[in-house]
Amino acid sequence: MSRVYNFSAGPAVLPEEVLREAADEMLDYKGSGMSVMEMSHRPKTYDNIIKEAEADLRDLMNIPDNYKVLFLQGGASQQFAMIPMNLMKNKVADYIVTGQWAKKAYQEAQLYGKANKIASSEDKTFSYIPDCSDLPISEDADYVYICENNTIYGTKFKTLPNTKGKTLVADVSSCFLSEPVDVTKYGVIYGGVQKNVGPAGVVIVIIREDLITEDVLPGTPTMLRYKIHADNDSLYNTPPAYGIYICGKVFKWIKKMGGLQAMKEHNEKKAKILYDFLDESKLFKGTVRKEDRSLMNVPFVTGNEELDAKFVKEATAAGFVNLKGHRTVGGMRASIYNAMPIEGVEKLVEFMKKFEAENA
Ligand SMILES: *Cc1c(COP(=O)(O)O)cnc(C)c1O
Repeated sequence: MSRVYNFSAGPAVLPEEVLREAADEMLDYKGSGMSVMEMSHRPKTYDNIIKEAEADLRDLMNIPDNYKVLFLQGGASQQFAMIPMNLMKNKVADYIVTGQWAKKAYQEAQLYGKANKIASSEDKTFSYIPDCSDLPISEDADYVYICENNTIYGTKFKTLPNTKGKTLVADVSSCFLSEPVDVTKYGVIYGGVQKNVGPAGVVIVIIREDLITEDVLPGTPTMLRYKIHADNDSLYNTPPAYGIYICGKVFKWIKKMGGLQAMKEHNEKKAKILYDFLDESKLFKGTVRKEDRSLMNVPFVTGNEELDAKFVKEATAAGFVNLKGHRTVGGMRASIYNAMPIEGVEKLVEFMKKFEAENA
């Protein structure tokens, strides 16, 4: 067996330890004689899995009691609709558009009410985060929406926008559990787990209780109401049971690693190795304004498309896979999520140095 260094933006690398544990439990989960995949989600065995996953997540993120944790389906993209359907009481919301995912959320919200684009960085291919200290927040906005880490462009909000008292809603898909967060600053934090937490098919929504009401837009399907899932502890219908089980294992792995502060230090160390190299390289360049750089997604280019393609090809052959950049940015992107070991980044940089020397 040989594992590659997988720099995919998502679905992405998971901790090897978690995969091994899941493999060990595949045929017989704790004496049940069956896999978690084969298990009813109603009896005690599964109830323990989901309850423990929630408890560990609450512990890791220090989630206050007045927030619900929901394990849902439909990916992050389903939340683009679920958020306006459930939160747009005045049918007005403000969106800060810092990339494709924020843009999609903004466009989806327009189906349900008045979505205002109050800031954007599209003028420079989303390579920076706009100043959000004094934006024209709408008087009657039901919420202000951000995508906190922009997976495709490699930018991250280092300070949250000043929402002037309005509820903040954040898509944290690609920075989930990468560093400590103050949950109380948000009304809703949500993310698809396939970037930093688990297998695709689960989206986690952390939502302040007062935002969960019966008062949703007319026609909102039952399955898209936060209240139905909150009232049923994420077991209204069959949840993405196996995915939640793996997320639970990842939570335990993060706890064992020292929690979110330790994760942050680990991620900063990794990112610094790559960014320092990009800053000194004569061949490779980062594409993002320095102060807005993501710890998780690092896009870079050589400035020559043929050379980019050659790099990706040779890197793949050397065991550094999924480095091709998103089609809208070109070049390369290294996603270095929690589970990417430091050696993965060190070896990638060694390889880049060698490539640079050979192609000078
Ligand atoms: C990947 C991603 C999405 C889309 O996730 P799906 O689960 O495929 O719907 C949304 N937002 C961000 C920030 C992402 O990285």
